[in-house]
Amino acid sequence: MKTNHRLSGFTFGEILGLTLLLISIVGVVLVIVAGTMKKERQSVCLSTLSRINAAKTIFAHENGLTNGAKVAASAIYGERGYFLRPSCPSKGTYDIKPIGVYPTCSCPWHIPKEITQ
Ligand SMILES: [Zn+2]
Repeated sequence: MKTNHRLSGFTFGEILGLTLLLISIVGVVLVIVAGTMKKERQSVCLSTLSRINAAKTIFAHENGLTNGAKVAASAIYGERGYFLRPSCPSKGTYDIKPIGVYPTCSCPWHIPKEITQ
């Protein structure tokens, strides 16, 4: 009597190949998702920097301040400011800078075009 010793319909090589293919596909998807999430966080941060700069401009106009005047962060955002205290999605910290200087984020990849040009 002849017996079949194979446990499944696939050989070890086929299972190994399929496993490596699935790992490769998952790796590519993770790289794409991570890149997209990084760009999204950067976009949110740059938008916040733009809002901080706009609020500084309004504050300077309302208070007769000129370029180089220092502004407290509490005057720009918070309870007495123009909007709630912002937070960088990558846990960076904001430096609002004096009037006339664009605000910055401590994350090295959150640099507005206004500064790089
Ligand atoms: Zn940031």
